Amino acid sequence: MGEIILCKYGEIVLKGLNRGGFENELMKNVRRRIKSLGKFDLYSAQSTLYVRPLDENIDMDEVMERLKKVYGITKLCKAIRAEKNLPAIFDVAYLRYKEILEDAKSFKVTCKRSDKSFYLTSPELAANLGGMLLEKLPHLKVDLHEPEVTIVCEIRAEGAFIHDIPVDGAGGIPVGTSGQALLLLSGGIDSPVAGCMMAKRGVVISAIHFEAPPYTSERALLKVERLAEKMSEYCGRISFYTVPFTKIQEEIKNNCPEEYFTLIMRRLMMEIAQRIAEKNGMCALVTGESLGQVASQTMAAMVTTDAVCRMPVFRPCIGLDKKEIIDTSYKIGTFEISIEPYEDCCTVFTPRHPRTKPTLADVEKAQGMFDFEELIKEAVENTRVKNIKAY
Ligand code: ATP
Ligand code: MG
Repeated sequence: MGEIILCKYGEIVLKGLNRGGFENELMKNVRRRIKSLGKFDLYSAQSTLYVRPLDENIDMDEVMERLKKVYGITKLCKAIRAEKNLPAIFDVAYLRYKEILEDAKSFKVTCKRSDKSFYLTSPELAANLGGMLLEKLPHLKVDLHEPEVTIVCEIRAEGAFIHDIPVDGAGGIPVGTSGQALLLLSGGIDSPVAGCMMAKRGVVISAIHFEAPPYTSERALLKVERLAEKMSEYCGRISFYTVPFTKIQEEIKNNCPEEYFTLIMRRLMMEIAQRIAEKNGMCALVTGESLGQVASQTMAAMVTTDAVCRMPVFRPCIGLDKKEIIDTSYKIGTFEISIEPYEDCCTVFTPRHPRTKPTLADVEKAQGMFDFEELIKEAVENTRVKNIKAY
């Protein structure tokens, strides 16, 4: 039986001028994510994207798994199409659900009719289809409240579609509908979550990682690349920038007061990230910071880092507890990679007593003890870039 996947997108974002752009981006994203699994025909109608495989051997379960990670889809299901008449609908439903129903005690049929010209109302269709199935499988009981099996039949302009209760999609709006931003990606738990949260709101995410060899290893960098690859299942292709940061860190250590190391480092990271962003058409930064989590994430500390920023800095984890961030990282599949114990450049020269209530003037004075401009230029010039995607 030919299966087709129905991806339903939310109605709210479809209002007015957004509609065309929304549907185009969603269609492009879906096409890219499943391209490597085979050929498909995609079309969009009535707030639904239809994904029809064009050859028989396509692994439709894998297609479903991939589509569950596409932002902009709220619900999805695998369906079988039937002609719009009761006998045809029954044949398809019986063939598809026979085995499952034989093992079940109770079931229910739910119908939805968006094509109002269909000759039965939804309750009439449900009653008729349910009755025909009961005739064939008399051991079954209809249970409207807690059925073991629910069969859904939708009457649409394109035909009748028979399927299970749809599963949840990733929600959000399609990547590509909200501009481009550069994510400061460490090897930790928070920044991958922050990146996916912004992608969920339609942002194309690029990532920038600061490395400090030989204090940080090649394997630490590979770990961050694997994080980006995992994220790309949700975010799509990611341009991944790696910045050589060792010299800058050493000069901070040699020239600036220890209690300000982390803040100066973060200000320099922001500066370099902005220059890379400006060169490459991104207009905002994203970090995984959460208010009060560590000394460099107090409000006073953020005032000093934001003081060097010329573009908006999005911190979607700002109001989340660690547990909430961890829950999301499980869901997007980055947690297991994030907890691998590799070093991060942030922890190379950690001050013993970092300032939690720094003033901007003090930080500027501390940073002013060395002129970092030449090293910043050099780091930007020596930044490497590669494309990362899961499939
Ligand atoms: P994470 O779990 O994302 O590492 P964290 O709670 O450990 O966050 P910090 O280490 O203070 O916090 O880093 C704060 C933010 O700074 C990170 O969320 C990330 O956006 C950015 N960041 C930290 N280290 C790096 C790095 N080596 N390369 C790129 N960005 C970094
Ligand atoms: Mg970290």
